[in-house]
Amino acid sequence: MELKQIDEQCYYFKGAVNIGYIKTDNEGILIDAGLDESAIKKVIKQIDERSWPLTHLFITHAHADHFGGAAYLVKKKAIKVYAPDIESAIINFPVLEPIYLQNGNKPYKELRNKFVEGKSVAIDETCIEGKYWIGSLEVTLHNVSGHSYHMLAVQVNDILYAADSYFDEKTLIKHNIPYIIDGTETIDTLQKLIQMNVKGALPGHGDYEEDFKETVEKNIVYHKQVEAELLKIISREKSTPIDVIIAEFCQYRGVKVDNMTSWALYRTAVCSYIKKLVEDQQVQIVFENNFLSVKRL
Ligand SMILES: [Zn+2]
Repeated sequence: MELKQIDEQCYYFKGAVNIGYIKTDNEGILIDAGLDESAIKKVIKQIDERSWPLTHLFITHAHADHFGGAAYLVKKKAIKVYAPDIESAIINFPVLEPIYLQNGNKPYKELRNKFVEGKSVAIDETCIEGKYWIGSLEVTLHNVSGHSYHMLAVQVNDILYAADSYFDEKTLIKHNIPYIIDGTETIDTLQKLIQMNVKGALPGHGDYEEDFKETVEKNIVYHKQVEAELLKIISREKSTPIDVIIAEFCQYRGVKVDNMTSWALYRTAVCSYIKKLVEDQQVQIVFENNFLSVKRL
């Protein structure tokens, strides 16, 4: 993971999942901890080699690729850990993620893997939106939910560590149907980012950009396109079970679902777009033959 400098205080380790680093005189704050031990080890090594401090960790949201490395970190260093409330509960009891991904059931063993179930970490302080002190550094936490229930972005002076509130274009295309848990909140958050008065932003997946608002605009266009395509395959004449819509839409978009993790993630994402269509009164929920179904209005 290559260390990149944003300004005199703000850095990040560039990887499949970025890890932010903020250096003050005698404190070092990580933003997220990567997927696993191997990712965080590379970060610790580079910080130690420079004899830089490492004292705090802020976890932006409870997705395993952002906190999976935290358990190793707290074992190796005296670290104070911060995370948004609700997200903290999942980071503390990571099995909650495969449980919710499988509709509340005790999950199949195939769904208990490191991509959807990180290692448990105790959170020292749970946070909400607003001004906040992480050690001796004052930051502003912004609620950027939509991709996760209560994700928080971290603003340090005029630099925004944006977590997964938006993705770079490459990641959008790779995911095809982006993972979101609420379509309406996803768009609201993107609009909020456009209004933000910051110099630049770093997404969880992608590069730091000063003109990040162009990328945010592209995210809005992308989500609206996905939503419009989904609406097209929902019939006005008859109701269709949501499970059928999910399978048909994945096929339409060229997504191949052949394992439990993909199934769970795409099911959640498509259901989030459907929920937005329901909220926008373009689609209605119908129960027919015991199926939870949808029909265009
Ligand atoms: Zn995420």
